[in-house]
Amino acid sequence: GVKVHFPVKKGVIFDRVVGHVHAVDGVSLKVEAGQTYGLVGESGCGKTTLGRAVLRLVDITEGEVVLDGTDLAKLPPEEMRRFRSRLQMVFQDPLGSLNPRQNIESILSEGMAAHGIGANREERREKIKAILAKVGLPADALSRYPHEFSGGQRQRIGIARALVLEPDVIICDEPVSALDVSIQAQVINLLEDLQEELGLTYLVIAHDLAVVRHISDVVGVMYLGALVEEASSDALYAEPRHPYTKALMSAVPVPDPEVEEKRERILLTGDLPSPADPPSGCRFHTRCPWARERCATERPELLDMGDGHRVACHFASEIAAGELERTGGEV
Ligand code: SF4
Repeated sequence: GVKVHFPVKKGVIFDRVVGHVHAVDGVSLKVEAGQTYGLVGESGCGKTTLGRAVLRLVDITEGEVVLDGTDLAKLPPEEMRRFRSRLQMVFQDPLGSLNPRQNIESILSEGMAAHGIGANREERREKIKAILAKVGLPADALSRYPHEFSGGQRQRIGIARALVLEPDVIICDEPVSALDVSIQAQVINLLEDLQEELGLTYLVIAHDLAVVRHISDVVGVMYLGALVEEASSDALYAEPRHPYTKALMSAVPVPDPEVEEKRERILLTGDLPSPADPPSGCRFHTRCPWARERCATERPELLDMGDGHRVACHFASEIAAGELERTGGEV
């Protein structure tokens, strides 16, 4: 039930709240220990804000973020500090998230010292060397600076920075989207190997459907601050059920020309509406090719259609059975 609403302020000194951006608007999901949950959606759908809310990097307006029975959303800041090392983040832009003036040892040991990991500098150095080896970087990386590494290596440093704090959960925000395609697979394989070895739990936020499919056990699709579909990765890609997911999938080219020619195409019209003024009822109704009058007034709940495949659409069953005509998106 997590909500993150940002106030929109106006006035000479921005002291008048004139509305709220509903960046995340009541999202409920569960990430099982040792698994990977992939969160997809267009930019601006709230997936990164949700990831940041889990880490309390943004204020949570309403709802709970429960880790092993503790609601992090209600923890006072000093108690949250104890949990911080258990939840880490790997950022999209490895260069932008690494201080260019610090060498790698300094970058990696900073958080360790703050969280009391390693009794002294020597102990911390040994641990950093072991982690660098784990992520495939040479030991001499310690004394080098971020600009001396390639994009892929910098992302390995970002992963090492998360790992030195011995986390249980890592939130990966677009972990490979800034990398060349040839390097993306290496970093994804590394994340998978580390998960197996260390029993890590991942929340992977990405817009690239192929990346999410490859790495995730469960996938959630977000649209305009809400979760509209959730299923196991296999089920979601085999049979997407929400019209928005269908449209996202149909935009991905298929290498086989025969399949490509025959498959259903769903083109979305119009832009993503503003989260400061979301549409009434189903938020997707202004762009949905199957929308009916009911869609403009009644917000659909995320309901289980069987085997944990959850869909937020009034007509998901009829659309799946081919019993509902398309309206072209007009209500
Ligand atoms: Fe489309 Fe209506 Fe389903 Fe929303 S509830 S996805 S508008 S058919």
